[in-house]
Amino acid sequence: ATPVGLLTGTGRAAQLGILIKGPQVLEDTRTVDTILLDKTGTVTEGKLGVVDVVTLTQVPAADVLRLAGAVESHSEHPIAHAIVEHARPQGELPDIADFTSAPGGGVRAVIEGRVVLAGRAGWLEENGVELSATDRAALLAQQQKGTTAIWVAVDGQAIGLVALKDTIKAGSVAAIAKLRELGLRPILLTGDNAAVAAQVAAIVGIAPEDVFADVLPEGKVEAVKKLQAAGAIVAMAGDGVNDAPALAQADLGIAMGSGTDVAIEAADLTVMGNDLGQVSTAIELSRRTLGTIK
Ligand code: ADP
Ligand code: MG
Repeated sequence: ATPVGLLTGTGRAAQLGILIKGPQVLEDTRTVDTILLDKTGTVTEGKLGVVDVVTLTQVPAADVLRLAGAVESHSEHPIAHAIVEHARPQGELPDIADFTSAPGGGVRAVIEGRVVLAGRAGWLEENGVELSATDRAALLAQQQKGTTAIWVAVDGQAIGLVALKDTIKAGSVAAIAKLRELGLRPILLTGDNAAVAAQVAAIVGIAPEDVFADVLPEGKVEAVKKLQAAGAIVAMAGDGVNDAPALAQADLGIAMGSGTDVAIEAADLTVMGNDLGQVSTAIELSRRTLGTIK
């Protein structure tokens, strides 16, 4: 393409709310054949709502929520925001000390002299919490409902869980169909559990074998590398701090405009409207600009 063509292409992209880091990005956009899509915040709104609070011991559900709200009040994760938003109106949250966060796992703090954990079941187990048969049954019940369950443990014992649900963005189904039409293989990539991931994939039209669930933050980069090693030219779309290394590793990194600054910095292209439809538009537009399609 001529430099004039490139400029026109990037100018048009900007009008559509697609910010491109440089002309080279257009070339990369042309060649991608696989696209990894982060689930939370990219395919889904990432605005979760609490749908249930379950107690698994004598501790009342209200206290499960109160402890979860307190420990999550220092986290920036969409899950944390949803839990705090739900917990605050129900009563004042206790003070916390020694807060730590494990990306892709959960959060920990000391509350009223006791160690409180909130996070994925697997992460709690890695931290010495044993789940009983009753606990597992509760977990399974949540998975069947398609919720994301955040477990709460106090001094090593699971006391309950907070169940959350996300909504799929309005434009995701059409955008993923369009990406397919453009010859890309869409893959859903998430740190969330397999049951939730499978439900989202079924709705947006991603094949069951193209769902990579329970992926830890380091695993996202590994997924990109593995596909590249197998010969794929990989695009990756994401929004979180956890996605940044994978966005940098991908041949074409795409950040959602509402995403974290680190994700936007790591990406080659940012879609300001936050919509996957802009991602398919960006790919189509750069192919047009470079004359690969009329
Ligand atoms: P995604 O890839 O879907 O954007 P993440 O990698 O950020 O998800 O997180 C994966 C999982 O780790 C979440 O589904 C949740 O179970 C757990 N998790 C991460 N951060 C938190 C948090 N602040 N509180 C509780 N659980 C968390
Ligand atoms: Mg995300």
